[in-house]
Amino acid sequence: MHGYQHLFVPGPTNVPEPVRQAMNIPMEDMRAPDFGGFVDGVLTDIKKVFRLENGRVFIFPSSGTGAWESAITNTLDTGDRVLMSRFGQFSLLWAEMATRLGLDVDLCDTDWGNPVPVADYAERLKADTSHQIKAVFATHNETATGVTSDIAAIRKALDEAGHPALLFVDGVSSIGSIEFEMEKWGVDLAVAGSQKGFMLPAGLGFLGVSDKALEASKTASMPRSYFSFEDMIALNDTGYFPYTPATQLLRGLRVSLDMLLEAGMESTWARHARLAQGTRAAVAAWKGCDLVARDPASYSDTVSAIYAPEGVDAREVISTAYYKYQTSLGSGLNILAGRAFRIGHIGSMNAVMLCGAISAAEMALRDCGAEVEPGSGLAAASEQFRASTPDARQGQ
Ligand code: PLP
Repeated sequence: MHGYQHLFVPGPTNVPEPVRQAMNIPMEDMRAPDFGGFVDGVLTDIKKVFRLENGRVFIFPSSGTGAWESAITNTLDTGDRVLMSRFGQFSLLWAEMATRLGLDVDLCDTDWGNPVPVADYAERLKADTSHQIKAVFATHNETATGVTSDIAAIRKALDEAGHPALLFVDGVSSIGSIEFEMEKWGVDLAVAGSQKGFMLPAGLGFLGVSDKALEASKTASMPRSYFSFEDMIALNDTGYFPYTPATQLLRGLRVSLDMLLEAGMESTWARHARLAQGTRAAVAAWKGCDLVARDPASYSDTVSAIYAPEGVDAREVISTAYYKYQTSLGSGLNILAGRAFRIGHIGSMNAVMLCGAISAAEMALRDCGAEVEPGSGLAAASEQFRASTPDARQGQ
């Protein structure tokens, strides 16, 4: 095999060379007198990516799933009623975790391809005058379907109902890539992971916590140990951890935060929007293909889930892209297995890289019997990229 194995799954994402180099260092003493200062800077700067002024962000040596668990067990009581919606594999798994942990899950499901049904949430919150609902959950970017939900609208529904429930948001495939405003949107618990917009290997779970959620953690009675806020706060306050931290990942995180903040979050969000638009132009040009996401207002800028044409097995498209064209596309999860494949346009990515993904998908689709015109997706995407990509000479 020559050249690269191309990675276009929506996480893990490509790790930029400066980040990789920053992690290629000897082991270090996590109790060294100057380690605390280093960690303190990381904890301060990661809040800027979450757009959090108050509160704090915890960094756990886990994946995003660990941060899901930490959010629940630190702020709720067993048996608490919570409002959730399942519309893809990740929203489904979070609801399953909530049930396993003993919450009373009030489900507000909708078809895969739709976002969080905000109007239904608003109705249930208004009807809950005795405030039995203790928390409202939303998966901001459903990675399985390529659908982004409107978190600001959920905050509005809570406020209009005068409802005090905590707002939990899964931002695993949105934070660091597409617009996310933890403070402004009144999000109380925001979950992320290192292997998506943060452009790192998997291994760190991030959890943004508002002051309100920190307050709730003082009386919440659900059992927790490893993921306890209290233990973390006691050590994080001086820049240390209550266990051995993943020091190399933290060194990588330092550089990825520098890259994100130097570019600016708005500019990073705009780059993801451009990449997504090009990808969607390709999908529109592929005969018989369609996005899983139904409403353009909720199209995801980090991942496109794409239905293969009728009679074409999406699993075969993915295998062909992998074995013949050295290209990893994302698989169709759960009910989308065999029906859809995904192109991740998240993290350290540019237009020409995506042209490769689109080209590989197009060739694999044709190999698998799709009647896609050769070059049709690539032509549409490349014209879109040509029109939208900034020219570095113009300082954009
Ligand atoms: N939530 C979303 C939206 C995801 O995309 C993923 C993983 O892809 C997860 C949660 C689970 O995160 P992790 O695999 O980091 O535990």
